[in-house]
Amino acid sequence: MRNHIITAGKKSGLLVLLACVGCTSTQVPVPPQQAQDVTQAQQALGNPLLAEWTGPYGGVPAFDKMNLADLKPAIEKGMALQLAEIDAIADNPAPATFENTIEALEKAGEPLNRAFIYYGIWGSNLSSPEFRAIQAELAPKISEFSSKISQNEKLFQRIKTVYQNAQKNPLPADQQRVVQLVYEGFAMEGADLDAAAKARYAAINKELSSLYTAFGNNILADEEKYVTYLTKDQLSGLPESFIKAAAKAAADRGQEGKYAVTNTRSSIDQFLTYSDERALREKVWNIYYSRGDNGDAHDNNANITRILKLRNERVKLMGYDNYADWRLQNRMAKNPENAMALMNAVWPAAIARVKEEVADMQKVANATSKTKITIAPWDYRYYAEKVRKQKYDLDSDEVKQYLELGNLTQAMFFTAGELFNYQFTPVTEGSVPVFHEDVKVWEVTDKTTGQHIGLWYLDPFARPGKRSGAWASPYRSHTTFNGKKTVLASNNSNFVKPAPGEPVLVSWDDATTFFHEFGHALHFLSSNVKYPTLNGGVRDYTEFQSQLLERWLSTDQVINQFLKHHKTGQVIPAELVAKIKKAATFNQGFATTEYLASALMDMKFHLADPEGIDPDKFERETLAAMNMPKEVVMRHRSPHFGHVFSGEGYATAYYGYMWADVLTSDAAEAFEEAPGGFYDKDVAARLVKYLFAPRNAMDPAEAYRLFRGRDAKIDALMRDRGFPVPATKAKK
Ligand SMILES: [Zn+2]
Repeated sequence: MRNHIITAGKKSGLLVLLACVGCTSTQVPVPPQQAQDVTQAQQALGNPLLAEWTGPYGGVPAFDKMNLADLKPAIEKGMALQLAEIDAIADNPAPATFENTIEALEKAGEPLNRAFIYYGIWGSNLSSPEFRAIQAELAPKISEFSSKISQNEKLFQRIKTVYQNAQKNPLPADQQRVVQLVYEGFAMEGADLDAAAKARYAAINKELSSLYTAFGNNILADEEKYVTYLTKDQLSGLPESFIKAAAKAAADRGQEGKYAVTNTRSSIDQFLTYSDERALREKVWNIYYSRGDNGDAHDNNANITRILKLRNERVKLMGYDNYADWRLQNRMAKNPENAMALMNAVWPAAIARVKEEVADMQKVANATSKTKITIAPWDYRYYAEKVRKQKYDLDSDEVKQYLELGNLTQAMFFTAGELFNYQFTPVTEGSVPVFHEDVKVWEVTDKTTGQHIGLWYLDPFARPGKRSGAWASPYRSHTTFNGKKTVLASNNSNFVKPAPGEPVLVSWDDATTFFHEFGHALHFLSSNVKYPTLNGGVRDYTEFQSQLLERWLSTDQVINQFLKHHKTGQVIPAELVAKIKKAATFNQGFATTEYLASALMDMKFHLADPEGIDPDKFERETLAAMNMPKEVVMRHRSPHFGHVFSGEGYATAYYGYMWADVLTSDAAEAFEEAPGGFYDKDVAARLVKYLFAPRNAMDPAEAYRLFRGRDAKIDALMRDRGFPVPATKAKK
């Protein structure tokens, strides 16, 4: 799973969680865009971070004028300005209308929005201890700001009036959808409750936020506390790079001369894959999968019980049966039954594949192990690696020679040209301000008409202060309701910067991620919506577009034109590409089962009666009822399932990865079946029209139906994972 973020939504004045596939999630405020008459106020302020963007392309961020000393006053002043705008909307004596309420909300907060763009750059691309101190100081103030808007009673009553009027007399489709999304956004956060219920709601949220922090800190404590130290004679099988890192990790902990296996995923994954020491594998495995479950001061079981109870009580205040019903109402899946149906349809094939994988591994173990062993969970990665070597051996260094960053960038531009009719042209150096010399900017235009679409910023290289992974974010989104705004999209990666004149060679995985993030950028660039709220993402849908774009990396057109040896110019050999594709279905029993066990548990916890629930017992009994293979453990066991219990970002949402995967596989087959394959003009036109350009202006399920002529089916996903396609087709 990829580690990246993209903005997930824009609700007027509310904090919005950034979608983040992988292991981190970042909460940043995404205020609404556009303000009316702030120019005067701005001039009075003179803060460059609040100032309107000037220069070419409809104005661009003044990244060359960023001064950290301006940040705190800019955010504080920006919030004050926006609250004044909100009060003006709420206190308007005229009856509430779409224009004076919803549209006014869409316009509010433009200066703050600009300040938050710089805030985001300092947070992700240019972080420093000084910034983090400001961030810590601002976090509670931003949270308070957000509450002031979401709990503004007069404001909500006006929104509700517009919403109710629109139910009787529908507005034009895009306005109707904005009203619905804004109203639901407020109502889902308890804006429609009476005073007593609101007070209880706030108290629950306060207690939950402490529980989330405690849950996360307990995991962290167990990750730091339990380190396994090895001696020189215990290193058998481990790669040189791991040994070096382990020696340093031990030295850093005052254990010079030893080797530390830290209690984190990246460390244990490698150790369990390569270490020949079975007893040590068992020990390390047990420590890792017991995080938050050791019956000590950092045990999370009681926290889970309390969190489930409070979440249930909170949604009951709003009349929902359970947390999952509340959470999924505005997701593509719409309700937990649909999400469960998908997972249950894939589950039997996944656990059946585990049986086959275990049998393959047992054979290897029987042939190579000195003592007779039965494959246990701590053997899975180790023997899977041995099977992989036998069946699919792929020299990743050989593959890299054909994946040069400049060529890959041109390959993405080619793909965007074919599908979206875009042309990418580098802007004149120095004409658009950047926040670091590594950042390059391209202008995006329509290939046929030459019309300006927007700019694409690329920050490719790792450096101190830049967060890890890869991500995409927009600096400005497309809207037309208040004058046409063109798109400023960015992609950010962590490639290792080479010596001058040396090529940047990347792995197949990293090339795939590069395409993935570019898919998010194309999703920003192709937006044709009128209102900011309609640019928002939907958690179980917004990864689909980017995942789909990954597929173009391995099309013949891209391979033959761009995947060339950096020295000889020779195209990557077909056998090598075939090996890469074949390896993609390897170990899918394990990967799908460990993921689905967690995703199913997430949903089942939130559908169960929380009264007196014992998480440990619940987990054990649920897994037994599911026939969980004894050789596999949940990817995230409940006591350290941070996605679900150290915040709400992925609570009853972990299924979303597979939901998006189903759409990805199914949509890719629409291209495969077409006369022009992945470059079929008709399918590409439908792709842009229904799946990219509308963003959230259309119900995602309806948009998909318009693209495909039917709902997505799981068959293509099953084929992609090398699973048999079930006879009775599960629909979603
Ligand atoms: Zn993504």
